[in-house]
Amino acid sequence: MSASKNRPRDLRIAIIGAGPGGICMALKLREAGFDDFMLLEKTSAVGGTWNLNRYPGCACDVPTHLYSFSFEIKRDWPRPYAPQPEILAYLEHIAEKYGVLPHCRFDDAVQRATWNESEASWTLELESGDSVIADVVVSAVGMFNDLAWPDIDGLDVFAGTVFHSSRWNWDHDLSGESIGVIGSAASAVQFVPEIVKEAGQVHLFQRTANWVLPKLDDPYTEEELEQFRSDPGAVLAIRDEIYRTMDEGMTFADLKVNAEREAIGLAAIDVVEDPEVRRKLRPDHPFGCKRPLFSNYYYPAFNRPNLELVTEPIERITEHGVVTADGTERRVDTLIMATGFSTTKYLSAIDVVGRDGLRIDDAWSDGACAYLGITTAGFPNLFMLYGPNTNNGSILTMIEYQVAHIVRQVQRLVHDDLAWIDVKPQAMERYNDEVQDGIGRVTVWQAGCNGYYRSPSGRVVTQWPFSMTEFRRRTAEPDPDAFEVAAR
Ligand SMILES: Cc1cc2nc3c(=O)[nH]c(=O)nc-3n(C[C@H](O)[C@H](O)[C@H](O)COP(=O)(O)OP(=O)(O)OC[C@H]3O[C@@H](n4cnc5c(N)ncnc54)[C@H](O)[C@@H]3O)c2cc1C
Repeated sequence: MSASKNRPRDLRIAIIGAGPGGICMALKLREAGFDDFMLLEKTSAVGGTWNLNRYPGCACDVPTHLYSFSFEIKRDWPRPYAPQPEILAYLEHIAEKYGVLPHCRFDDAVQRATWNESEASWTLELESGDSVIADVVVSAVGMFNDLAWPDIDGLDVFAGTVFHSSRWNWDHDLSGESIGVIGSAASAVQFVPEIVKEAGQVHLFQRTANWVLPKLDDPYTEEELEQFRSDPGAVLAIRDEIYRTMDEGMTFADLKVNAEREAIGLAAIDVVEDPEVRRKLRPDHPFGCKRPLFSNYYYPAFNRPNLELVTEPIERITEHGVVTADGTERRVDTLIMATGFSTTKYLSAIDVVGRDGLRIDDAWSDGACAYLGITTAGFPNLFMLYGPNTNNGSILTMIEYQVAHIVRQVQRLVHDDLAWIDVKPQAMERYNDEVQDGIGRVTVWQAGCNGYYRSPSGRVVTQWPFSMTEFRRRTAEPDPDAFEVAAR
C-alpha cells in the first residue's frame, strides 16, 4: 500500500493482528468487495490466542458449537469443548479457505499509529522500521496478549527454569521435577492436572480460590457425529440452545441459578479427600464475581500425593525455591507463572496518536472507553475488535457483530464519499454511562474481587453487562447521530 493523492476510492485497510478477530474482519471485507487490505501480525502465524497459548490441557470453556463462526459451521467437533489444537486448526482452515493468508504480513509488530489530518490517513510504524499507510485501521490485538508477571522479590535470582503458561516452554522436560505454579486461575486449572502426571512434585501457590464447575464434555458418540454430519439442522439447534442459555446467564441476574451453580461448585470440591485442602479450595466470593472456570480434572488432582496447595502468601523467591510468609522454603526446579494477562490496555498497548496530536493514553487516562467498544472519539477511521466493554458470552459471536458494524462503516466511507468518520465525544459518553450503569446493576461484579475487569482507575473496562442479543441490536442499529463525518 502506498500514498497517492489521486488514488482510486479503493480504501487501503490495515488490520492489526491475525487472531480470530483479524481473520473474520479480513474475510468479511473481502466478501464486501474490499481487496486492498493487509493483516499485520507480530507472530509468525494466524490464530491469535489459539496460536500463542499451547499449554497442556488448553481448551475453550464456551461450548465450541458456539465458540466458532456462524459462516463456517463445523459439524464434527469431536467433543463439546474443543482443545486448543482443534480450535487453531479451525482458524487456520478459515484463513486458508477464505483467502486471508496472502494478505498477512507476519513477524512484525505495529508499534505506533499516527493520524495525518490533511491526508485523512494513518501511518503505522512497524518494529522492523517499515511503515504502512492506510485509510482505515482495524485493531484486532485482542485482550490477552500482554502477559502479567508477578512482582515478587528475588524472581531475578532464581536459578531454575521460569516461563509463563501462555508461552509454554515445550523444550523443557518437566518429568520428575519439583515445580512451583504461581496462580490458580483459568490456565492453572487446565494445565495443573496435566503436569502432575509427569512431575515429581507440584506446589500450587493460590492467592484466591475460584469457582471451578464440572464440564459436560464427554466426546460425542459416533451416532451423534453421524447425525450432525447428515442433518445440518441438528448442529444449528445445539448452537441456538447454547446461545440462549449463555445469553440468559450473562448478567448473573438470576439468583436461583447463581445459587445452583455455587451448590454444583461446592459439590465438585467434595471429591477432594483432605478436609483442610477442601476448605482452602472453597471460594469466598459469589459465583460470577470473577470469571467462572470449568474442569473435571482440577479437584481430583488434589488427591494425588505430588500436588500441594499452598495458600500462605509468597514472601520471596530464592535461587532454588519459593519462601512463604511463614518462613518455609519449597525447593523447585521450575517456576510456571499462571498469572494471566494485563487485560485493560487494549489499543493503548500501541502508541496511537489521533486528531490534534491526542494520544490514546491521555484520551484513556480514566481507562479504555469506546462507543460500542469499537470507536473512540478523536481517532477517526480507527476501529477496534474485542475492545473496551465487549468481554462476555462467546467472544467469536461478539466479534462477528463488531465486524458487521465495521464493514457498514467502511462502506459508508465509500458510498458517502467521506474522508473520515469519528464518534462524537458526547455520544461515546452517553453510551458509556449506560454501560457503566448496566455494570453497576450486575450485583456479583460489585463484590470487589474482579481485578482483571478494572482499569487502574477502578472502572470496569472489560465487561459487557447485557446479553449478546442486546449487543447485536446496538451494533446493528447505532445511534444515527453518534458520528461526526468529514467529506472528501
Ligand atoms: C487460554 C485462553 C482461553 C480462552 N478461552 C475462551 C473461551 O473459551 N471463550 C471465549 O469466548 N474466549 C476465550 N478466550 C478469549 C480469546 O482471547 C478470544 O475468544 C479470541 O481469541 C479473541 O480474538 P482476537 O482476534 O480479538 O484476539 P487474539 O486471539 O488475542 O489475537 C490477537 C492477535 O494480535 C496480534 N497482535 C497483538 N499486538 C500486535 C501488534 N502490536 N502488532 C501486530 N500484531 C499484534 C497477536 O500476536 C495475536 O495474534 C480465551 C483466551 C485465552 C488466553
